[in-house]
Amino acid sequence: MAIHMNISEYNLKAESLRLSCQCGWEGKANEANGELHEAVMNFECPKCDKMLLIINLITDAQKYFDWKESKK
Ligand SMILES: [Zn+2]
Repeated sequence: MAIHMNISEYNLKAESLRLSCQCGWEGKANEANGELHEAVMNFECPKCDKMLLIINLITDAQKYFDWKESKK
Protein backbone atom coordinates (compact mmCIF):
# COMPACT_ATOMS: atom_id res chain seq x y z
CA MET A 1 0.00 0.00 0.00
CA ALA A 2 1.55 3.27 -1.09
CA ILE A 3 1.93 6.04 1.45
CA HIS A 4 0.33 9.34 0.56
CA MET A 5 1.60 12.65 1.82
CA ASN A 6 1.85 16.20 0.66
CA ILE A 7 5.05 18.00 -0.20
CA SER A 8 5.31 19.97 3.02
CA GLU A 9 5.05 16.77 5.06
CA TYR A 10 7.63 15.14 2.82
CA ASN A 11 10.05 18.05 3.19
CA LEU A 12 9.87 17.67 6.96
CA LYS A 13 10.46 13.93 6.89
CA ALA A 14 12.59 13.41 3.78
CA GLU A 15 15.84 12.92 5.71
CA SER A 16 14.54 10.18 7.95
CA LEU A 17 11.77 8.72 5.86
CA ARG A 18 12.26 5.03 5.18
CA LEU A 19 10.27 2.94 2.77
CA SER A 20 9.86 -0.79 2.71
CA CYS A 21 8.38 -2.99 0.08
CA GLN A 22 6.67 -6.35 0.05
CA CYS A 23 9.53 -7.75 -2.04
CA GLY A 24 11.96 -7.12 0.81
CA TRP A 25 13.54 -3.91 -0.42
CA GLU A 26 14.04 -1.27 2.22
CA GLY A 27 15.66 2.09 1.90
CA LYS A 28 15.42 5.79 2.22
CA ALA A 29 12.85 7.60 0.13
CA ASN A 30 15.64 9.27 -1.84
CA GLU A 31 17.03 5.84 -2.78
CA ALA A 32 13.77 4.80 -4.40
CA ASN A 33 13.00 5.62 -8.00
CA GLY A 34 11.44 9.04 -7.90
CA GLU A 35 9.39 10.12 -10.83
CA LEU A 36 8.07 13.64 -11.10
CA HIS A 37 4.71 14.32 -12.67
CA GLU A 38 2.87 17.58 -12.99
CA ALA A 39 1.07 17.44 -9.66
CA VAL A 40 2.49 14.40 -7.91
CA MET A 41 5.81 12.71 -7.35
CA ASN A 42 5.87 8.94 -7.21
CA PHE A 43 8.50 6.80 -5.57
CA GLU A 44 8.74 3.25 -6.84
CA CYS A 45 10.62 0.28 -5.45
CA PRO A 46 13.93 -0.06 -7.35
CA LYS A 47 13.55 -3.86 -7.29
CA CYS A 48 9.99 -4.50 -8.37
CA ASP A 49 8.62 -1.09 -9.42
CA LYS A 50 5.83 -1.23 -6.90
CA MET A 51 4.52 2.20 -5.97
CA LEU A 52 5.61 2.97 -2.41
CA LEU A 53 5.07 6.66 -1.90
CA ILE A 54 2.93 9.26 -3.61
CA ILE A 55 3.60 12.90 -2.81
CA ASN A 56 1.04 15.49 -3.64
CA LEU A 57 2.93 18.57 -4.79
CA ILE A 58 -0.18 20.67 -4.79
CA THR A 59 -1.12 21.71 -1.29
CA ASP A 60 -3.53 24.37 -2.41
CA ALA A 61 -5.58 23.16 -5.35
CA GLN A 62 -7.10 26.54 -6.09
CA LYS A 63 -3.66 28.16 -6.34
CA TYR A 64 -2.62 25.43 -8.70
CA PHE A 65 -5.60 25.92 -10.98
CA ASP A 66 -5.10 29.69 -10.93
CA TRP A 67 -1.46 29.13 -11.87
CA LYS A 68 -2.45 26.77 -14.69
CA GLU A 69 -4.98 29.28 -15.91
CA SER A 70 -2.36 32.03 -15.97
CA LYS A 71 -0.14 29.89 -18.22
CA LYS A 72 -2.71 29.75 -20.98
ZN1 LIG B 1 9.70 -4.10 -4.23
